[in-house]
Amino acid sequence: MERIEIIPLGGIGEFGMNCMGIRYGDEMIVVDAGMGFPEETPFGVDISIPNFDFLEEFRGDLTALILTHGHEDHIGALPYFLKKFNLPVYTSRFTMALAERKLEEHKMLDDVLLHRVEPNDIAEIGNFKIEFIHASHSLVDCFSLAIKTPLGTLIHTGDYKIDDTPVIGPPYDLKTLAKYGDDGVLALLADSTNATVPGRTPSERAVIPAFEEIFSETHGRIFVSTFSSSMHRLQIIFDLAHQFGRKVSVLGRSMQKNVEIADDLGILQIPHNTMISFGESRGLDDDEIVYLVTGSQGENRAALWNLATGTYKGMEIEKGDTVVLSARIIPGNDKNISRLIGHLYKRGANIIEEKRRLIHVSGHASQEDIKIMVETARPKYLVPIHGEYRMLFRHKEFVKNHVEGYSDENVILIENGDVLEFDERGARVLENRQLNRTFIDEESSGEIEYDVIRERKKLASGGAVSLVVTVDKKSGAIIGEPKISFQGVAGIDLTNGVATNARQTIAEAVGAMSKTQITDLNLFKENLRVHLKRFLQKEIGTKPVIVTTIVEI
Ligand SMILES: [Zn+2]
Repeated sequence: MERIEIIPLGGIGEFGMNCMGIRYGDEMIVVDAGMGFPEETPFGVDISIPNFDFLEEFRGDLTALILTHGHEDHIGALPYFLKKFNLPVYTSRFTMALAERKLEEHKMLDDVLLHRVEPNDIAEIGNFKIEFIHASHSLVDCFSLAIKTPLGTLIHTGDYKIDDTPVIGPPYDLKTLAKYGDDGVLALLADSTNATVPGRTPSERAVIPAFEEIFSETHGRIFVSTFSSSMHRLQIIFDLAHQFGRKVSVLGRSMQKNVEIADDLGILQIPHNTMISFGESRGLDDDEIVYLVTGSQGENRAALWNLATGTYKGMEIEKGDTVVLSARIIPGNDKNISRLIGHLYKRGANIIEEKRRLIHVSGHASQEDIKIMVETARPKYLVPIHGEYRMLFRHKEFVKNHVEGYSDENVILIENGDVLEFDERGARVLENRQLNRTFIDEESSGEIEYDVIRERKKLASGGAVSLVVTVDKKSGAIIGEPKISFQGVAGIDLTNGVATNARQTIAEAVGAMSKTQITDLNLFKENLRVHLKRFLQKEIGTKPVIVTTIVEI
């Protein structure tokens, strides 16, 4: 029997790491390959990606990777994905430019086949016919996908909001969506990020009045921090700067790069002579300059953080400066942002946050946008995606209660690792497989083994003990006293004798061992570790990581 399988690898029941396999017959396409930002930043790991090994069993079926838009939670894992599965990639011009930069950093640009597509292009990939539908979002050049298969059509919204008046580009292409609605849509896979928010999401244009006020009432320097990918927002700042006789200088590598790409592609229309270098900006009066800076999330190495802490080369935030934080707080970043704001206040800056004025709007569909989406696509089944479980659930409840014709039967909640199957008889979740995430080391861009994370976790909770024992190579006799040092182990201080007793326990253990037990170094090491472990557990009740070193002389 014909069937379609939907297999999410990430992005369902969590924020970020969006990735989904869609299979028909013996062909499978993958939509997005996103990064995740683990909220707890466990043990020095800031980045995670989906566990692509899961797709190994479908290796022979995989035909293409489709990228809906250029946010990191949709393309951040691209190099890691392509290293495992070198598939042709289909995406828009702006997303492609961002993807190319990423692949270049990983030195793999020459090995990858990238197809640039325009809105309403149709890519025929085996049994799949995919139309790219222009979607409005906080970024530009974004797509929803109409994925036609012999069994029926799926609509994957990507990230979207229904913006009737975006700053750059046309509104959401509801006309094309409606055409599919008329022909019949089997399932709508839809963004849930803002499903808990009532009403419509304001247009990207909605922030203009508040920014106009800020520009007209400020006489000092203005610093605007926003996501470096928020093109509509950047365009607004360039336009207002021009209108109010200010120049714009862009600080921070990711912002400079993105502005350069968007300027080259003609996505940003930067008014003539408005953008200047940092060096040029230093010669201007305070009321003649706006700085666009990275670091709205309080990131410790970003431009705004450095300006706020006096570590930016050649300039710092001073009394009289106005700092506009034009971004939402990504879950998990609250503390960093709070510290950043503290530093800015200490320097006497005036801070304008989202809470006080309309200087930021979301890029995701609120409940009334969702209603428009569902009523236009009129799918047989709705599958909420992109969001924590709470958001998926509320998405379902909202549609059940506010859109006619939807009930528990045709709004389907799935989680990462579920296999959702459609066939002529209907839809069902077949199985759930446990999916681990893969952690990435930011410095080396390499994968971090799960064992390493487990070790770090142990270190964080129990600390470490190092034991050094010196033995005579010939006789096997122990030389001098065992040396034990403690790092971050609770219950140990120099006065309570635990260290002395530990040393004594080890010395006694060694005394009781036979010569062969000592000359087999691996056995000796393991024996010592076990003795010390037992002792520490009994004495202080913790399980630190124990590192044993045998020195032979
Ligand atoms: Zn997005």
